[in-house]
Amino acid sequence: MPLFEYECLTCHAQFTEIVLPWEKNKVIECPRCHAQDVKKLVSRFSYHQSEQDRLEQIDTRAPRDDSYYRDDRNIGLWAKKRAKELGVDLGPKFEEVVEKARSGKILDEYNK
Ligand SMILES: [Zn+2]
Repeated sequence: MPLFEYECLTCHAQFTEIVLPWEKNKVIECPRCHAQDVKKLVSRFSYHQSEQDRLEQIDTRAPRDDSYYRDDRNIGLWAKKRAKELGVDLGPKFEEVVEKARSGKILDEYNK
């Protein structure tokens, strides 16, 4: 479920909204005071998820949009999940590559 947390800038109420991918421009209204001036919060839910949880939740058949890749914690997760489904052992070399990708070091190597 694409759940997002928002804070109302008028009354500071915090609430959760379901925003489906095709509703990106949806107007979010505060359920308490009906102001439309709201701020998106980092979801506490996804923030505290372990990598294992995130792996469980990835649907490798679902299309991923740019925002997925903007979260660098997601780099490599999809490949890991897919490999797991296929019963492939990616080995420690893969972990190393993922770590590099997440830290941005992989770009340094390509630019050498
Ligand atoms: Zn409000």
